[in-house]
Amino acid sequence: MKTWITAAIASACAASAWAFPDKPITFVVPFAAGGPADKVARDLAEVMRKGLNSQTIVIENVAGAGGTLGAAKVAKAAGDGYMLLVHHIGMATSPALYRTLPYKTLDDFEYLGMIAEVPMTLIGRPNLPANNFPELVKWLEANRGKINLANAGLGAASHLCGLLLQQSLKIEMTTVPYKGTAPALTDLLGGQVDLLCDQTTNTSGQIEAGKVKAYAVTTMKPLTTPVLARLPTLDSQGLKGFNVAIWYGLYAPRGTPKAVQDLLNTALRSGLKDADFIRRQESQGAVVISDARLTSAEHKKFVEAEINKWGPAIKAAGQYAD
Ligand code: ASP
Repeated sequence: MKTWITAAIASACAASAWAFPDKPITFVVPFAAGGPADKVARDLAEVMRKGLNSQTIVIENVAGAGGTLGAAKVAKAAGDGYMLLVHHIGMATSPALYRTLPYKTLDDFEYLGMIAEVPMTLIGRPNLPANNFPELVKWLEANRGKINLANAGLGAASHLCGLLLQQSLKIEMTTVPYKGTAPALTDLLGGQVDLLCDQTTNTSGQIEAGKVKAYAVTTMKPLTTPVLARLPTLDSQGLKGFNVAIWYGLYAPRGTPKAVQDLLNTALRSGLKDADFIRRQESQGAVVISDARLTSAEHKKFVEAEINKWGPAIKAAGQYAD
């Protein structure tokens, strides 16, 4: 009898995984619409749905508190595969930045695989008098106490980059938090804030159009797209060892059935092989993941390593939120 019940449950689970998904899936993006996280999530939704019975994937922007509100929403959602999180390096920096987080980064999620790595750029408002990085440093020195640096809140990639920049230059700036770097960029273009450090997927179009001042890339190696190749690295401009490249991953709430996780992982893997998806990401400086970090175990291992890598630097900077 017991064996029969177990077999019935197993076959019901297999049948429901087989039918998955039979209704739209939601990708929670923990930042504002139109920004880099939103853009990569929308591009991914387009290619992943092909492997998910062509179901619609809805994007829900749950922005605020540097990405932690959206992450908390998914951590508390039902583990049925219908609500997923697209998040970036903030998964790994938030544990050091928040005294209390409403979720446990390593315990409350199923790790479905990584999506892409993206470098960042340091850009300035169009009317900022400095035209290159050495001129910017002089301008910053001369304007101590008056500099505004936009970011997407404590826990955002732009926050991390800005924090390291202030530390490396030994110049404090007033940070202006937004719900994402789409609205931050709008204010930068309007001259309301001075500087922003953001993903190339948000900035390369503005750099190409000459609408912002572009000072540097944040990786050790120069970038190769025609637009970004002309920018020097911060490392080569005197900020030795400055190296921030961010990454995106896909997450489900803990307890999502393994069969559903496997279907999502398969759809993710085939989506990331889509030639148009790859071309689109690469043209903006991103690198689509194609290595072992597409497995749950390696994705989680990588995030854990990132928590250990950034935690001490963030704690040393003494920035916390409650
Ligand atoms: N790029 C933003 C960040 O600073 C977030 C976003 O709007 O995608 O993390």
